[in-house]
Amino acid sequence: MKVAVIGATHAGVFAAKQIKAELADASIDVFERKDTVSFLSCGIALWLGDHVSSPDKMFYESPESLTAQGINMHMKTEVTKADLAKKEVHSQDLTTGESTVASYDKIVITTGSKAIMPPIPGIDSDKVYLSKSWDDAKTLKEVTAGTKRVVVIGAGYIGAELAEQLSLNGQKVTLIDGFDRVLAKNTAPEFSAIFEQEYRDHGVNLALGQMVQGFKETADGIQVETDQGTYEGDIAILGLGFKPATDLFTGQVDMLPNGAIEVNPYMESSVPGVFAAGDAATVFYNPTQKQDYIPLATNAVRQGLLVGKNIEEAKVAYPGTQATSAVELYDWAFAGTGLTKEGAAAKGIEAETAIIEEDYRPDFMLTTTKVKAALTYEKGTKRIIGGAFMAKHDISQAANAVSLAIENKMTVDQLALSDFFFQPNFSQPINYLSSVAMAAAAQES
Ligand SMILES: Cc1cc2nc3c(=O)[nH]c(=O)nc-3n(C[C@H](O)[C@H](O)[C@H](O)COP(=O)(O)OP(=O)(O)OC[C@H]3O[C@@H](n4cnc5c(N)ncnc54)[C@H](O)[C@@H]3O)c2cc1C
Repeated sequence: MKVAVIGATHAGVFAAKQIKAELADASIDVFERKDTVSFLSCGIALWLGDHVSSPDKMFYESPESLTAQGINMHMKTEVTKADLAKKEVHSQDLTTGESTVASYDKIVITTGSKAIMPPIPGIDSDKVYLSKSWDDAKTLKEVTAGTKRVVVIGAGYIGAELAEQLSLNGQKVTLIDGFDRVLAKNTAPEFSAIFEQEYRDHGVNLALGQMVQGFKETADGIQVETDQGTYEGDIAILGLGFKPATDLFTGQVDMLPNGAIEVNPYMESSVPGVFAAGDAATVFYNPTQKQDYIPLATNAVRQGLLVGKNIEEAKVAYPGTQATSAVELYDWAFAGTGLTKEGAAAKGIEAETAIIEEDYRPDFMLTTTKVKAALTYEKGTKRIIGGAFMAKHDISQAANAVSLAIENKMTVDQLALSDFFFQPNFSQPINYLSSVAMAAAAQES
């Protein structure tokens, strides 16, 4: 079998490796316009804050390691056109300029996503930066070494992490968002409030509930104008989210309105023999039981693996996603999964949230600390659709447990009586996960 894989960060790398694992004789051509593969963007803010041992370790594969696994790597080679019906791929070697056309039995689209850049006047200024690729990372590392004031636009995970690390580096940071709280899409107001206090305590100017209307270069930096004020920085960094990089395939395959390629549970698109995975594709979102667009490495990796498992015949179905994710800001660990009450309302689901705060282990221990826990469920059915945990302690696996509960359509009553261990080093007789489920069950009874 001859397979073309277009794009090689996470989805493409995992797809190519798994195809090789399933079909040792397959001939796999991977096309990647950059000279690196498998870059972990999640390390960018950490690198800016000097928490990365070596930037080389922000890659888990290289073109050479994939070549050694029997995969034909075409690096610095851009796919310029693809005829999906004919399974024809047109590519250009960006070093030599040479163009090639080749036919395949199957095509895998893993072209990922690109940063959302709304048509705001001045947004194309050289003083406005992005944070996605390895090139962006190197540029930000170099540029922020010489800046004192940075305006970060977008207080989702990416902007929130950049603002934190840059403020800890001693920069004067302004964090702007159209929502009136930080991490508004990721968590409940009670959690955002704690982070907002930390930002203020670390000198971050929070400009929330404001829409950016323009960027103006000045002699020594850039002015960011919103509907409520003007903020000065040496540079601005955008963290406004991502959209699928699938323009090449428009009109050839079914897509969501934003360009995400619709895939079935076996990662096959509406064109037989054409697969898609990762940020280029849709995901099945278990909290809503609908197709959605949720660009996360966790989905890219699992969907890439599934492309490999299903490339010959549909064998293993994707279990969907809860968009489980985590962040650490100013020593606060936060992990969440699924929807918040506000997020559920936006998706047309009537939901309720129970929130508790308690020590994670008994107070006879010499130390303990508070955990804030939230559980969101659909009103009426009591089906769990979201959860969030926050503490100055590692609570991350609790979000993974709720993720499983959502995936398996559990109710709050079932989670309340699930078997979680008790041992004083780790937990109370009633674990905080059981506690929040009991609180949810009680408030619904
Ligand atoms: C700052 C940041 C932090 C993040 N943190 C997390 C995190 O903590 N956890 C998490 O789960 N996710 C995180 N994500 C999201 C995660 O990085 C993405 O979901 C993931 O990179 C998607 O992988 P992908 O392979 O689908 O697409 P991409 O990473 O977008 O890669 C697509 C690849 O395709 C190549 N390509 C595109 N078009 C062509 C073409 N025409 N020809 C040749 N090559 C092409 C591109 O060069 C690129 O290498 C973060 C993202 C960012 C930006």
